[in-house]
Amino acid sequence: MASRKKVLLKVIILGDSGVGKTSLMNQYVNKKFSASYKATIGADFLTREVLVDDRQVTMQLWDTAGQERFQSLGSFDALDSWRDEFLIQASPRDPDNFPFVVLGNKIDVEESKRVISTKRAMTFCQSKGGIPYFETSAKEAINVEQAFEVIARNALLQEESEEFSGDFQDPINIHIENERDGCAC
Ligand code: GDP
Ligand code: MG
Repeated sequence: MASRKKVLLKVIILGDSGVGKTSLMNQYVNKKFSASYKATIGADFLTREVLVDDRQVTMQLWDTAGQERFQSLGSFDALDSWRDEFLIQASPRDPDNFPFVVLGNKIDVEESKRVISTKRAMTFCQSKGGIPYFETSAKEAINVEQAFEVIARNALLQEESEEFSGDFQDPINIHIENERDGCAC
């Protein structure tokens, strides 16, 4: 069998502060959840190796911070701003078909505290050309695997990924955040 090249997918997790971006990434990569809130400083990435249809894929997940500028809009209206800003900054080759996935996190929280209805979220995703939508819980590991699998599949389909030859080394798990915990600032 001809050896297929390893694929590196860069996934960027965007959204307002406090929605659970860091938690989703931690659940997906480390299968851990922490209820205590630690603001992310700068950007960190974690990697996870997955097989997608027998294809070995390295998912490089970028966590982000500095979301405060959109916070006054409220989480959901901000989603459009995140999408637009991403398209401006990243200028992907085919913006209309960029493989976005929308996650509505904290689905474990009681329904009365819900801010955005499923219907509204789905209507939004449909209006943007059919973005896949998942309701997740980083706390209870609901739909996290499924959401990231669709992210990987759709990104692979785009052929936007960077490919590496066979000598690509094992990825290194880096989580810089903890190093900053001791910081007095
Ligand atoms: P970020 O600012 O988007 O990275 O958000 P964090 O991942 O730091 O999460 C913010 C807060 O929400 C933390 O206290 C988390 O423990 C909590 N949290 C994150 N995901 C979930 C979830 O799925 N369910 C519940 N109940 N809490 C969550
Ligand atoms: Mg964070």
